[in-house]
Amino acid sequence: MNFIHDNFLLHCPTAERLYHQFARPQPILDYHSHLSAVDIANNRGFNDLFEIWLEGDHYKWRAMRANGVPERFCTGSASPHDKFLTWARTVPHTLRNPLYHWTHLELKRHFNVDELLNEQTAESVWRTANQQLQTDELTAQGILRKFDVRVACTTDDPTDSLEHHISINSRDLGFRVYPTFRPDKSLLVDQPDQFNPWIDRLEAASNVDASTLAGLLDALDRRHSHFHDNGARLSDHGLPHCYAHSCSETEAARIFDNARAGRAASPSEHEAFASFMMVYFGHLDAKRGWTKQLHLGPLRSTNTRKLRELGPDTGFDSIGDFPQAAALSAYLDLLEVEHALPRTIIYNNNPTDNHVFATAAGNFQDESVAGKIQFGSAWWFLDQKDGIEHQLKVLSNVGLLSRFVGMVTDSRSFMSFPRHEYFRRVLCNLLGNDMERGELPNDEALVGDMVRRVCYQNAADYLGLQLAPNSARSKTADLART
Ligand SMILES: [Zn+2]
Repeated sequence: MNFIHDNFLLHCPTAERLYHQFARPQPILDYHSHLSAVDIANNRGFNDLFEIWLEGDHYKWRAMRANGVPERFCTGSASPHDKFLTWARTVPHTLRNPLYHWTHLELKRHFNVDELLNEQTAESVWRTANQQLQTDELTAQGILRKFDVRVACTTDDPTDSLEHHISINSRDLGFRVYPTFRPDKSLLVDQPDQFNPWIDRLEAASNVDASTLAGLLDALDRRHSHFHDNGARLSDHGLPHCYAHSCSETEAARIFDNARAGRAASPSEHEAFASFMMVYFGHLDAKRGWTKQLHLGPLRSTNTRKLRELGPDTGFDSIGDFPQAAALSAYLDLLEVEHALPRTIIYNNNPTDNHVFATAAGNFQDESVAGKIQFGSAWWFLDQKDGIEHQLKVLSNVGLLSRFVGMVTDSRSFMSFPRHEYFRRVLCNLLGNDMERGELPNDEALVGDMVRRVCYQNAADYLGLQLAPNSARSKTADLART
């Protein structure tokens, strides 16, 4: 039997039926990714397996470095072919790392490759994949259709013009691509060398004078409105922890004026300013009916020498242990008190925070929408079988799994859509085994309906993103799932 077979990760007949009858037919709503809207608008084609699979993948770089591979084969100057070959040599050393599963699931679903990747199979996999990459089925747009992606959301700075999203959504491509408003740079008053050029770009994008705090807030509101007009219904913040100190507008304006004059905010001033801004962003999301995402907890750019040589986001981040509980609840409470708490999805980076986040969500649920505060899917270092199971179990124990809005790829790569399949298999395996043990009723209609909703329908109902009309969707999606 091939390693990736029909019942991969499904360890009992009930799990198999749940997956094949209820999970597999669901389309994909990928509401958090880092895909390039330019690539989708231009229907980028990929020259080779390196371009679509290895370029920019810090998970693989970390595995290669841990395997003793020189940097020139990770981020350096080696040829695409040699980087791929070095990755192929590393793959047998990734046994029990999620990379081993992802690698073979991705090769199977994109290229129908059943061989295990290693030094011996590398050349034939390289040739097979590169040939298929020349077909229309495996361009950026072809891949979205192949995996039946109805909506993908990118992650965007407020200064982004959104011209590529507009171009994509003006066409009948069978899917929609929406921007996500991620204003992290607006908090950088402690780094005026980054903050001030960003303010300049914001002024240009919004046509608003942002030389005062009031101007900054107005400019951000206008960009938020522009995102809304182009289909956005989500914001996102990547933070070590929530900021929830009370800070007056006068105090925030003083800190802002100093940063504009090139004087960096102290740590406590940064915390106060960030708190003021995060409350403002909560109001923006609440007034337009959006969903706020909070990605909390990583410890970034830990290796100074590598940061100097390679820059940020090259694989030198790890899990932080910031205290989350009080700050997270205080932030949600600040908004709740002002009747400005939007729908919110909270994602933790540290697995010890699973119960903290899942119970914090429970404090702020209300009748405005079922599952208003969501404990988000297993993220980054937790995005593997154990991490997904752990998140599902904690959510089940202290919240309502039935109302969960499900999985996201959170990926830069067009090879990552099988992550949804991976999640669905883990979900169905968990539930199927519960049913066979008699811990859930042996009622496939009851449990299957929950599977169907967690895989797709809950996210569609909760987020309120506009779906594409059915007309342009090709049959390839059905073929891909058989
Ligand atoms: Zn992300």
